[in-house]
Amino acid sequence: TSALSIKQLTKTYENGFEALKGIDFEVKQGDFFALLGPNGAGKSTTIGVLSSLVRKSTGTVSIMGVDIDDDFAKAKQFLGVVPQEFNFNVFEKVYNILITQAGFYGISEADAKPRAEKYLKELGLWDKRDDVARNLSGGMKRRLMIARALIHEPRILILDEPTAGVDIELRRSMWAFLQKVNAEGVTIILTTHYLEEAESLCRNVAIIDRGVIVENTTVKSLLGRL
Ligand code: ADP
Ligand code: ADP
Repeated sequence: TSALSIKQLTKTYENGFEALKGIDFEVKQGDFFALLGPNGAGKSTTIGVLSSLVRKSTGTVSIMGVDIDDDFAKAKQFLGVVPQEFNFNVFEKVYNILITQAGFYGISEADAKPRAEKYLKELGLWDKRDDVARNLSGGMKRRLMIARALIHEPRILILDEPTAGVDIELRRSMWAFLQKVNAEGVTIILTTHYLEEAESLCRNVAIIDRGVIVENTTVKSLLGRL
């Protein structure tokens, strides 16, 4: 089974705009995959369909072999999603945000605690664990979003433009963290409009433009042709 299989996916927004015009791509388990494309191409719409923020129009989406139309709750268990916008409760403390998220997946604090500690330490947030999220810098909030997405041990981590607006030093450390997570067996799918990001991290890439997949190849072969 592939980690993610998308077939003939379309999305027409209520205003009639066709953001996805029948896209197909597949991501193998263990892959580090980039959905690369310019602003407005349909990357966030695709991620939105996966995270149920956006209702798809037509087509099929399977996550670890589970069709989201058959059992969305089950398919969702496999996913950790890091959207572009911060969407945690900014008045909650950093550590508690992770424990609350674990609770949504039926995981007790006792079970979640070691993972919360591990990710907060690896992401440089351990000293901030008792601060309310509002007091974190932008880069810290972004790292908190990643820790939160991993707390229920998903098989697939999906990140929408994870390093947009992040300085080069933090970008490098986030890349290193994601490579470590991938090496531990988590499939990673990220969207980006930086070729450099896809080049540094990813094995396979789908290029999306105006709602159409125009290329689906290895990063190596893409770079070889530039
Ligand atoms: P759906 O068809 O999934 O229900 P909607 O068309 O209702 O989606 O739009 C969802 C949200 O996105 C709305 O709150 C809307 O204000 C916002 N939105 C509308 N147009 C745009 C746009 N061009 N870019 C980004 N967001 C938009
Ligand atoms: P990307 O993430 O690649 O920048 P998006 O998926 O956010 O692209 O947007 C794709 C296209 O769909 C854009 O033209 C955007 O304006 C449009 N769009 C996004 N959300 C909505 C919405 N809710 N209603 C109408 N159009 C939208």
